[in-house]
Amino acid sequence: CLSQQQDFDFFYFVQQWPGSFCDSQKSCCYPTSGKPAADFGIHGLWPNYRDGTYPSNCDPSSPFDQSQISDLTSSLQKNWPTLACPSGDGIQFWTHEWEKHGTCSESSLKQHDYFETTLNLKQKSNLLDALTSAGIQADGGSYSVSSIKEAIQKGVGFSPFIECNVDSSRNSQLYQVYLCVDTSGTNFIDCPVFPHGKCGTDIEFPSF
Ligand code: 5GP
Ligand code: 5GP
Ligand code: 5GP
Repeated sequence: CLSQQQDFDFFYFVQQWPGSFCDSQKSCCYPTSGKPAADFGIHGLWPNYRDGTYPSNCDPSSPFDQSQISDLTSSLQKNWPTLACPSGDGIQFWTHEWEKHGTCSESSLKQHDYFETTLNLKQKSNLLDALTSAGIQADGGSYSVSSIKEAIQKGVGFSPFIECNVDSSRNSQLYQVYLCVDTSGTNFIDCPVFPHGKCGTDIEFPSF
C-alpha cells in the first residue's frame, strides 16, 4: 500500500581520497580548520534507486539547520572535510549534501540522524585500515583495481565500486570509494547496481 512505499531503494556511501581531489586538474583548498588528516573523507550518503537513477532535492521545506547538529560539528570537520575552493568551514558542503541527498531519505533519517549515521558508516568501513592491511598505501604507487577491491571486500565484507579521476599528468588514480548501505543506514549490503566510470587496470594511490 502507499504508506509502505519506499521512496528509495538503498544508499551509496561515498568517500573521497583527498590526495586525488587535490592533485587533479582542479586544485583544492584546505578547510579553514586546517589540512585534514591523510585519510578518506566523507563525500556523502546518497539515496538511490535499483535502476541506477536517484532522487534529489526532495524537500525544500527542510533546509540545513546547523543548530540541529552542533554536537557533531567537530566530528564533521574531521571526517567530512571540505576541499573545494575557496576554503570553507564545511557548512556549505554539508548544506549541499543535506539539501540534495539527505532530504530524499527523511523518511528513514531526520537531519541529526542522517549526519550521525553517515559518520558512523565511516568508522565502520575503516577503508584506510583495510587497504593498509593489504599493503596498499598512499605512497604514489600503482595498484591494480582488483587488489584494491579485494582488500576492501576483505575488510568491510562487501565489494566496493572504485571511481577514478586523473592527476595533472593524466594518470588514472583512486578518487572515490562507493559502498552500498540499506535504507536504515545501518548495514552495508551488496550493491544492487554499480555506478559507471572507467579506471585503468592499475591506478595510482597518491599521497596527501
Ligand atoms: P558526477 O557527475 O561528478 O559524477 O556527480 C555529480 C554529483 O551527482 C555527485 O556529487 C552526486 O551528488 C550526484 N551523483 C552522481 N552519481 C550519482 C549516483 O549514482 N547516485 C546518486 N544518488 N547521486 C549521484
Ligand atoms: P555533489 O557532487 O555531491 O553534487 O556536490 C559536490 C558539491 O559540493 C560541489 O558543489 C562541490 O563544489 C562541493 N564541495 C565542497 N567541498 C567538497 C569536497 O571536498 N569534495 C567534493 N567532491 N565536493 C565538494
Ligand atoms: P568485472 O565485472 O569483470 O569485474 O568488470 C567489468 C568491467 O567493469 C571491467 O572493465 C572492469 O574494469 C570494470 N570494473 C569492475 N569493477 C570496477 C570498479 O570498481 N570501478 C570501475 N571504475 N570499473 C570497474
